Amino acid sequence: MNDFSRLCVHTMTTKPWSLTEAIDAYAKAGVPAITVWRQHITPMGLEAAAKALRESGLRVTSLCRGGFFPAISEAGRQTAIDDNRRAVDEAAAIGAPLIVLVCGAVPGRPLEEGRRHILDGIAAVLPHAQAAGVKLGIEPLHPVYADSRSAVNTLKTANDMAETLASPWVGVTVDVYHLWWDPDLEREIARAGKNILSFHVCDWRTPTRDILNDRGLMGEGCINIRQIRRWVTRAGFEGDIEVEIFSDEHWAEDQTQYLERIKTAYLNRV
Ligand code: ZN
Repeated sequence: MNDFSRLCVHTMTTKPWSLTEAIDAYAKAGVPAITVWRQHITPMGLEAAAKALRESGLRVTSLCRGGFFPAISEAGRQTAIDDNRRAVDEAAAIGAPLIVLVCGAVPGRPLEEGRRHILDGIAAVLPHAQAAGVKLGIEPLHPVYADSRSAVNTLKTANDMAETLASPWVGVTVDVYHLWWDPDLEREIARAGKNILSFHVCDWRTPTRDILNDRGLMGEGCINIRQIRRWVTRAGFEGDIEVEIFSDEHWAEDQTQYLERIKTAYLNRV
């Protein structure tokens, strides 16, 4: 049976709220865990954010997001590595055991080149992550984002990378929005096994009116979320189940009422 013990909400899901407002509302609503987006830390500062999270009693599931490693110039790639090291420091400061990597892609450049940059970038950040006790989760993105957001578009590619890097500090993130269409998904989830570091849920609306900001609440779309949850459970995943929804429509609603609808959808549709 479902209960709320593993429910985590991303601060981007309730984007109109400041980090303080999100922390207060989640705690009040009985949501035990939070994934923090870096843009919600910036306005209040890292120290204050870390303090507020510590005092809230919420479990910090992960920090979103690192990545964006590919760049045309060497300097650009170094800038990305430096920024990911800062993200590791931020994750450690707020008590997040994991950073989710949206790996990046450069429009017009070959995806194979991007994947080399991604692998090199993660390898460069890895010692710092290990020293800080922060894991790195490679999140494959739906192929519709292959032009500019990620050259990693299937769980197979993410698994290949994690196996190449062969570190207990690198694994994969399974997001139903990005992976639900993949005929190899069941097999690749089984292959990932304990390398699955996090699990993101939302839904795929038909029609999708905006490819970035029209994700559905669970049950509003066509993804068989329960089936994918069974697969990750069978693979050994026992972590939080993270509700990550980018939606102009839902961001325009009363966020307190929306959070209650998220809880209902989580109980009935995940
Ligand atoms: Zn995600």
